Amino acid sequence: MSAVTGLPPYDESNIFARILRGEIPSRRVHEDEFAVAFHDINPQAPVHVLVIPRGAYVSLADFAASASDAEIAGFWRAVGRVAKELGLEAHGYRALTNMGQEGGQEVPHFHVHLFGGRMLGRMVP
Ligand code: 5GP
Repeated sequence: MSAVTGLPPYDESNIFARILRGEIPSRRVHEDEFAVAFHDINPQAPVHVLVIPRGAYVSLADFAASASDAEIAGFWRAVGRVAKELGLEAHGYRALTNMGQEGGQEVPHFHVHLFGGRMLGRMVP
């Protein structure tokens, strides 16, 4: 177990690692040096996109603790850029990350969900 995240170490065979390597198809909407973004396979809103760093980070905790400042800045810039490119800025959107077991994280490669395209419900834990 990782002392930082309480999750197992990074698994190179996780589904998002395979998407990054192009082994599994995805509907990409953006890619740059630091991040790749693609449509979620099971969308929960009219727009539901996942933004992931190119680096091998299990979770937000892992990313925050281990990524370089350049990776962190590049990643979050990409999140904002993707939202803008998808036309979400005009009416607003939600950016969310699930972290670890109790946070409901299923895929152990850090990712941010972008939801938009309709009035979103109140966020209740
Ligand atoms: P988590 O619960 O880890 O925060 O979210 C994982 C997300 O990945 C879910 O919304 C799920 O629908 C999405 N997902 C899982 N497998 C795939 C896949 O193979 N392709 C794509 N595009 N999304 C996936």
